[in-house]
Amino acid sequence: MCGVIGVAGNADAAREVFIGLMNLQHRGQDGAGILTVGGPGDSIFNLQHGSGLVENVFSERAFKSLRGHTAIGHTRYATIGRKDPNLLQPFLDYEAGIGIGHNGNIVNCYALADELLSKEGVSPMRTNSDSEVILHLLAKYLKPGQYSAENLFASIKTAMSKLVGSYAVVGLDRDGNLFGFRDPHGIRPLELGKRVNGDGQVTYALASETIALSYLGYSEISEVKPGEAVWISSNGELKREVLESASYSPCMFEWVYFSRVESETGDLSIYQARFKLGVLLADQLKERGIKADVVVPVPETSRAAAIAIAESMDLPFRELLIKNRYVNRTFILEDQESRQEAIKRKLFPIAQEVVGKRCLVVDDSIVRGNTAKQIIELLRQAGAKEVILVSTCPPIAHPCYYGIDFPSRAELVACGHSDKDVAAELGADRVVYQSMEGLKNALNQRSLCTGCLTGQYPTDISSGQEFETRRLNDRKKIRPQETTIQGANQ
Ligand code: SF4
Repeated sequence: MCGVIGVAGNADAAREVFIGLMNLQHRGQDGAGILTVGGPGDSIFNLQHGSGLVENVFSERAFKSLRGHTAIGHTRYATIGRKDPNLLQPFLDYEAGIGIGHNGNIVNCYALADELLSKEGVSPMRTNSDSEVILHLLAKYLKPGQYSAENLFASIKTAMSKLVGSYAVVGLDRDGNLFGFRDPHGIRPLELGKRVNGDGQVTYALASETIALSYLGYSEISEVKPGEAVWISSNGELKREVLESASYSPCMFEWVYFSRVESETGDLSIYQARFKLGVLLADQLKERGIKADVVVPVPETSRAAAIAIAESMDLPFRELLIKNRYVNRTFILEDQESRQEAIKRKLFPIAQEVVGKRCLVVDDSIVRGNTAKQIIELLRQAGAKEVILVSTCPPIAHPCYYGIDFPSRAELVACGHSDKDVAAELGADRVVYQSMEGLKNALNQRSLCTGCLTGQYPTDISSGQEFETRRLNDRKKIRPQETTIQGANQ
């Protein structure tokens, strides 16, 4: 998972993208980058990126060189290759005159890379990233130096016919045009915003989440449709076209965990979706006769659902797990050891309020179980009488091939285990998951990607098995010297 943003027709485009990236920081904390290009007559590209948080990557000095009226930005969440600076985006193909930032994962990237490298004679790629495969495909099918919407859309359409997986892409070209496109299933989100400036000039921007756009004053915000491409000229002309469409399958995890609570996707507020997940989960808890003294959210993502559960069950809501704000999101840390260490530093219970109580602990999801296990242990040490763990998401039992780091069945605590087994493994008195019906009702979309819950994926994932194996091998550093294509830019 990553965050992407692009802005066109703004004299201070880089600074605007920087502020947008700050609002997308939760989507990736491993690194960030901004690529700009000048206005008409000035086709100089300027690129800056670095590892770490957005505010640490860009200085005032950086903005002096990031000149241009069009800019794109990327905040990186790495599943592997976290410390490799070559994988920081945006990527630029100087010769073709285009650059892109990508959120998602190309399932057939190995096959495409082989095709590009051997069969079609494209020169060896600079990195081993699947995002660079997208860039090469676009460059290959774009008529040299012709950056009209028609040419760009033709190139994107041909690339789409080859790409399998999830992609939300923002890009720019040498003439200062901004473009973006989304995979035909709409697995990863991409939003388009319009702003009328003080001087009456209209500007457009693209971003992974609505919060990044509304924060910058873009008010007319709409989803880029699945399979749609958008082109915005340097003087504010907008063209959009659906190039390929398939079954709408947005990732359910955007509502459950990933997106910011202030955002909206699929015409549904993330906050309202999480609240509804809580209401429907409370119904299931009541049906099962679950009793508790207090409802405790696992900060921050599950707060809205926990409030809903407490209200529905007429129980007190208490924030008894206190988060150290200076520890980053544990889910997106690179390895198990770092995650466990971060959890220890991240949460602490209010023992005086926990002692002797039956605690109903609400978490957004249970993936590997690291956070849950440690929280349960912390609450027990603090004197909790019972710990009932509830998850607003059904059991995650299958890998994700589209950019969320659920790579191996072996790492998923729910895989092949009953709720009882999971409770025993985590040390809880009981574990209760949201039902599939509850999830679908709460998110209220015409369809969803639920591949990691059901094992049924919206695209062909046959080459995803190869991806999973290679990624695991990379993680174990079995063949660290070997060049492989990594899904490292999600
Ligand atoms: S498999 Fe799961 S995490 Fe991956 S895109 Fe689908 S719903 Fe989202």
